[in-house]
Amino acid sequence: MAKIYWDKGHGGSDPGSVANGLQEKQLTHKIVEYAMSYLEANYTGFEQRVTRTGDQTLTLSQRADMANAWGADVFVSVHINAGKGTGFETYVYNGGVSSKTVALQNVLHSEILAAMRKFENVTDRGKKRADYAVLRETKMPAVLTENLFIDSNDAKHLKNEAFLKAVGEAHARGVAKFLGLKEKPKAQPEAKPQQKPSDKKLYRVQVGAFADRENAERLAEELRKKGYPVYITD
Ligand SMILES: [Zn+2]
Repeated sequence: MAKIYWDKGHGGSDPGSVANGLQEKQLTHKIVEYAMSYLEANYTGFEQRVTRTGDQTLTLSQRADMANAWGADVFVSVHINAGKGTGFETYVYNGGVSSKTVALQNVLHSEILAAMRKFENVTDRGKKRADYAVLRETKMPAVLTENLFIDSNDAKHLKNEAFLKAVGEAHARGVAKFLGLKEKPKAQPEAKPQQKPSDKKLYRVQVGAFADRENAERLAEELRKKGYPVYITD
């Protein structure tokens, strides 16, 4: 069972960046919720947890500690950028990182960028490295995503629920590809042809054997009242 740890950036008393009527903590909550439901619906062979289910306040070290204590295989921290720029970027730790970490960054970066570009040709700000606490303190491959800017024209996408859903689902696909998760079999689109009644086997159930016919009649009557077709045989 692969273990996936999602981190909804910020939360509680820390809203993250705020602009254009948007709060970073609410956007990261939505994106991660979309990612988790998409994984649940489409893949098998994994467990997933999240740093905050609602609007809890957590320190950066608490987030890393929870993922480490659980023994997660992957850690993904979702954020929204600020500073009046534009575009998408991802981060891994700028110290020593494993080739797995680089692979996780590569697959997440390309999945998410492709999903965003179905809406607009957003700027690729690149795959970056930084000394962020959640990346430094986590022991497993960890990536932090910065999904557009809350305080620029990018905000129009962050106000679009379909965009947030697509970005969340792209996070999920990236993680699934990295872990090699098995896809759930797709539900059959066409209904099964109705079986003809004549093809059906009938199984009979006997419910009692009585020496006294009256007792048999009494049970038969009870069963008829409950809607069962009843036959008395001798
Ligand atoms: Zn942030």
